[in-house]
Amino acid sequence: MPRRDGEYMGVDSDSDISVGGERKGKGKDKTDKRKKDKAKTKATEAESDHLQAAYTWEASYTRSWDTVREDEAGSLQGAVEDWMARGRRRRLLAPAAPVRRTIIRHLVLLLDLSTSMLDRDMRPTRFDLTLQYAREFIVEWFDQNPLGQIGIVGMRAGIGERVGEMSGNPQDVLKAIADRHKLEPTGEPSLQNSIELAKSSMSHLPTHSSREILIIFGSLTTCDPHNIHETLDACVATKIRVSVVALAAEMKICRELCDKTGGQFGVAMNEGHFKDLLFELIPPPAQRALSRAAGAGATNPAADLMMMGFPTRLPDASPPSLCVCHSQLRSDGFLCPRCLAKVCDVPTDCNICDLMIVSSPHLARSYHHLFPVKPYSAVLSMADASTSSGCHGCARVFPLVALAAVSEGMSAVGRYRCPDCRGEFCSDCDVFVHDVVHCCPGCGQ
Ligand SMILES: [Zn+2]
Ligand SMILES: [Zn+2]
Ligand SMILES: [Zn+2]
Ligand SMILES: [Zn+2]
Repeated sequence: MPRRDGEYMGVDSDSDISVGGERKGKGKDKTDKRKKDKAKTKATEAESDHLQAAYTWEASYTRSWDTVREDEAGSLQGAVEDWMARGRRRRLLAPAAPVRRTIIRHLVLLLDLSTSMLDRDMRPTRFDLTLQYAREFIVEWFDQNPLGQIGIVGMRAGIGERVGEMSGNPQDVLKAIADRHKLEPTGEPSLQNSIELAKSSMSHLPTHSSREILIIFGSLTTCDPHNIHETLDACVATKIRVSVVALAAEMKICRELCDKTGGQFGVAMNEGHFKDLLFELIPPPAQRALSRAAGAGATNPAADLMMMGFPTRLPDASPPSLCVCHSQLRSDGFLCPRCLAKVCDVPTDCNICDLMIVSSPHLARSYHHLFPVKPYSAVLSMADASTSSGCHGCARVFPLVALAAVSEGMSAVGRYRCPDCRGEFCSDCDVFVHDVVHCCPGCGQ
């Protein structure tokens, strides 16, 4: 394949780069050794900068058990409560108005497997951390989007490489990246080749599903055979949303890919920020507003009906037969309601008649993004509390005296009230209802 170094947007990693557009310059929080070298001139500067978060490659090693603070009594209760309060505040900031979202998602995870992933600025290496976060991402993604499918493409040695086929089964996807030796980083990445490969694996998809590409990119260069802007235009035309999580610095072409296709762009500053950026992409994206050019009638696009089938589950003890997906002899499985073909797993498309086969719990779970549980309001004082003595969810008895000091957004009496059914819940149930159950046990909303 003819290759030339196109689109070289490399930035010397020693130069001053604005990371994520948030911070500029360098010289924050030197490691001990460097501090000693420059102690005479930079002592005061280093001290004043010490409180700011460091670039990950400049920070000294932090032990995770040092970041947890105990209160005076030696308990971790305060730290846990702070963490919960942060979650509550974030939930209150979420938009309350209903948003149209895509629940049938198709995502291609594009992993950079070039030599730059061997950098140790993220510990243990960018590559190992990426694999670890990718696994956590996939598990969480399928939990939130049970009707979605993920495919995996790697980019190394100048080409795109299909690592895992598009699949709706989390185990299949996890298996594809389970063996790190098969993914050993080599050579240079090629954004264009791998985006083209990802694009081709989504070309057959129906219009009601979303097409997304998520790139985890550790390099500052790309090595492309043609003009990558043509690929970008093709992505825009086929409504593919490209998001990039960069591990090094911002590259113009990456930013452009995201801006023009409606995706998100972020540069990870450290390990925690990397994970945040990745996990922000788990909730389904809101459907983009139609452009004015489409005309006045296009403000509310017609919702297409689509055919789905609920399969019959075969008991484990049924006589073995061949499945249509793998041609394997097995006794358990599901029958397509239209053509009675046997498939191994749902959700899937029937290999024979192309009907989308889903189980009803999967469909119901996908709904919670469309109708989120309203945030509970914190009951501020004993006078405001209702007469109920225990939590409406788990029946744990509420404390009878108000706590002296609580962080913002938390209830001093440990009660959180549903705005609809006025039921009061403890803080554990509040988190559980909003993050796991997605349905208020008091009113079923
Ligand atoms: Zn099968
Ligand atoms: Zn069928
Ligand atoms: Zn409770
Ligand atoms: Zn309720």
